[in-house]
Amino acid sequence: MRRASRDAEAPARGTASRAVDAGAARRVRALYRRLLQRYGPQGWWPADDRFEMMVGAVLVQNTAWRNAQHAVAGLRDAGLLQWRRLAQAREDRIADAIRAAGTYRVKARRVAALARHVAAHGGPQALAALPTPALRAGLLRVHGVGAETADAILVYAYARPSFVLDAYTRRVCARLGFAPTAAPHADAALRELLEGALPRDAALYGEFHALIVAHARVSCRARPRCAGCALHAHCTFAAGEC
Ligand code: SF4
Repeated sequence: MRRASRDAEAPARGTASRAVDAGAARRVRALYRRLLQRYGPQGWWPADDRFEMMVGAVLVQNTAWRNAQHAVAGLRDAGLLQWRRLAQAREDRIADAIRAAGTYRVKARRVAALARHVAAHGGPQALAALPTPALRAGLLRVHGVGAETADAILVYAYARPSFVLDAYTRRVCARLGFAPTAAPHADAALRELLEGALPRDAALYGEFHALIVAHARVSCRARPRCAGCALHAHCTFAAGEC
């Protein structure tokens, strides 16, 4: 499920970008280029197939990726990394397999619900026949799947252009001046800006989100490491601190 990086200046494929302030749109595209130059292609999502990606998106909630990877491996070792089997498995057996992910009883219920959702539609490939709004709405009805997880699944498993807005994205974008706050209530405006500034290309959205996560982990942490940050000269937060 690894993808090539995309050129943010490439023309939109099929669907025009939404109208946003031209200056802000240029700054968004410049941000993508700078992050790509700094961190290189991230190639998300590391998974062997669509269903593994979907399960990983639930297991990584509120934990580090390495823990989610161990939990995915636990499911594989238990013979449960397959949607039919997972949909029929007992939750205590799933929980035993995913202990590495933390809150494993909660997550067992969530991945079981996701597997049942997939099974009810005839499998992950069959779900691909749904238009994006229906696919997203269905995912949001699954126990434990919120907007962030649903959008990650849309982008990385189904190649649908729906920008992933997580805490990292909110924090980095707020500090750079793209959003007035890092609070979720600003999500709609931030989505409008990001999606309006970019070609409607899921691979581009996926790479951009992965780059933002890389930046939030390396430099733009909760306590930011602004000295030496590649974005320092363009950052509202850093300007205020100086
Ligand atoms: S200069 Fe500081 S606040 Fe701004 S993006 Fe870099 S690390 Fe984040």
